[in-house]
Amino acid sequence: MSWYERLGVRRVINADARLTRLGGSIMPPEVIAAMAEAAQWYVDLVELQRAVGRRLADLTRNEAAYVTAGAAAGLTLATLACVTGPDPASIARLRAQFPDLEGYKDQVVIQAAHRIPYDPAIRLAGVQLVQIGNALATDPWELESALSERTAAVVYVAGAHLARGAPPLEEVVAVAHAHDVPVIVDAAAQLPPAENLWRFTRDLGADLAIFSGGKDLAGPQSTGLIVGRADLIEAIALHGPPYQQLGRPFKVSREELIGLLVAVERYLTLDHEARVRACEDTVAAWIADFSRIPGVRATRAFPNEAGQPLPRLVLEIDPSCCGMTARELRDRLWEGDPRIAVALHDEHRISLTAETLEPGEAEVVAERIRTILRTTQH
Ligand SMILES: *Cc1c(COP(=O)(O)O)cnc(C)c1O
Repeated sequence: MSWYERLGVRRVINADARLTRLGGSIMPPEVIAAMAEAAQWYVDLVELQRAVGRRLADLTRNEAAYVTAGAAAGLTLATLACVTGPDPASIARLRAQFPDLEGYKDQVVIQAAHRIPYDPAIRLAGVQLVQIGNALATDPWELESALSERTAAVVYVAGAHLARGAPPLEEVVAVAHAHDVPVIVDAAAQLPPAENLWRFTRDLGADLAIFSGGKDLAGPQSTGLIVGRADLIEAIALHGPPYQQLGRPFKVSREELIGLLVAVERYLTLDHEARVRACEDTVAAWIADFSRIPGVRATRAFPNEAGQPLPRLVLEIDPSCCGMTARELRDRLWEGDPRIAVALHDEHRISLTAETLEPGEAEVVAERIRTILRTTQH
């Protein structure tokens, strides 16, 4: 009997997304094996952090890299690094006077279109957010006029699903750099494509880019990867554990450090085209299957909800024919055993994701949906 069963916790088939509340992703066996191996020795944590960081920098074609406790923690640490720089005295002084930022740059500029539920992680560094533009667009002059001696950084949230009216990263970088202000990219869910590991920083000029370790990378759920400028990565390391500075709560174990390294190594060897084809096949099979159910309209959507270049299935539910709304279908799937997690696309539609499913689960999901609809259809 598994620990989950002993505790009475139901298994979830995840056809929703790489969500923290569902566990993020499933670590492949080589990641788990590497973590088990890492658990057997004590090491000097700083020595290990630096060695893993160097290796990750090489793998991701960046100047430097750092493993932190999730992408949200990465936003806090990256902001702290931009506030103080790598000077140990400045880092210690900030710790002593926090949350008073007197004498430090205390503002971070962000576009309204980039306000996401994770942005309190930026304010956790003690800074104020200065919002520019509106939900749909930002004019380049708005960025220009928001920058001042108080600006520690500009945070840019990457993703094809976000407002098109936000200026592209290259433009934001050009304006920010003209004022000597660094740009932090929140790219937490922007894998695939794997090339994004170097695109935002090396190719588009951002100073730091942050990725979740526990989303598509399938590393430890509680890790995040920060890549970019060596001096800022150094500042991040000095704020973070094991040092007793402001970043001390964001602890990463030696097992997690090794686990994320192995996950990134693996990710760079995956056949991503084959992965996309497999997702396309699953979506096509679902469409063929669901098209036979009266009152259900199945279509392919692209890119997915996180702006990744992966297809997903959207199911429109006609309540007069199906005897239930999309929301009720979503709830019924969640209440079963195992639970099946799908996304509520809007009040009429649910969406299903293929890339989060384990082998054989796509059929289980389809069968459960057919069964639920068969019993309610009139
Ligand atoms: C998932 C996500 C985060 C948080 O990442 P964690 O690794 O769970 O901390 C931050 N920003 C964006 C845009 C995300 O999608």
